[in-house]
Amino acid sequence: MSDDPRDYHAPANLLHDRIVLITGAGSGIGRTAALTFAEYGARTILLGRTQAKLEAVYDEILAAGWARPSISVMDFAAAQGDDYAQLAESMQQEFGRLDGLLHNAGILGERSPIEHYEVSKWLEVMHVNLNAPFVLTQTLLPLLQASDDASIVFTSSGVGRRGRAYWGAYAVSKYGIEGLSQVLADETSAQERIRVNCINPGATRTGMRRAAYPGEDPETLPPPESLMGPYLYLIGPDSRGVTGHSFDCQ
Ligand code: NAP
Repeated sequence: MSDDPRDYHAPANLLHDRIVLITGAGSGIGRTAALTFAEYGARTILLGRTQAKLEAVYDEILAAGWARPSISVMDFAAAQGDDYAQLAESMQQEFGRLDGLLHNAGILGERSPIEHYEVSKWLEVMHVNLNAPFVLTQTLLPLLQASDDASIVFTSSGVGRRGRAYWGAYAVSKYGIEGLSQVLADETSAQERIRVNCINPGATRTGMRRAAYPGEDPETLPPPESLMGPYLYLIGPDSRGVTGHSFDCQ
């Protein structure tokens, strides 16, 4: 078999009994990841800011006969320390551990030059895209450490590896995500039971891509469903021992 996660084919029960939290699970890539993880047997925790979208995903999972998910409504732009602590407490009560954490939620911010980038928008993007994943990871680390095999996956972007004009705070936040992932991977490298990696979905047919490229025909882009091989590989047990890397889906 190829070592390239893009060629990965998951066995049907890959995530059986695994507890996996997905941020931004109500739409776009996060929604598809949540449905896919549930299909492969995971018990999912759907986190996002819009309750109705999370409930729609919840209903789809139940209708398909997969394991009953949990919902956590949290707006990363506004969440405080207590909100994170409450989430960890309720997960501790219900599951006692966490096996997979997919940091997927994100916002685009403005497409404008640094010279004119609105400061309040900059702070919001950095907060939602970078500070919130840091706080969520730190809060959930004890639950991840309680797992025999835990995987943390951060979502990067092409502009998180090579800056490009007018991508402003979004690009800088994704550079930060790559850095956070590397630092945490190094800190946990002696713990075989935890791995930390980044994934870059590449241009994908979602609302965020539409907002970034309004003139583009979405039909020319791959849908989120076509990216799920690498997501399953990284969240599931087959990537055990793989840490500190940044993968491309396309
Ligand atoms: P999307 O369709 O806009 O979905 C983003 C998700 O994040 C939504 O579920 C959204 O919730 C959630 N979210 C946004 N702000 C939030 C907040 N303050 N608190 C909690 N949740 C929040 O975007 P996508 O294209 O699927 O992107 C998913 C990830 O892939 C992002 O990290 C993005 O940067 C990355 N990415 C995407 C592409 C692409 O071409 N699509 C390329 C490279 C990287 P609501 O639905 O409730 O707003």
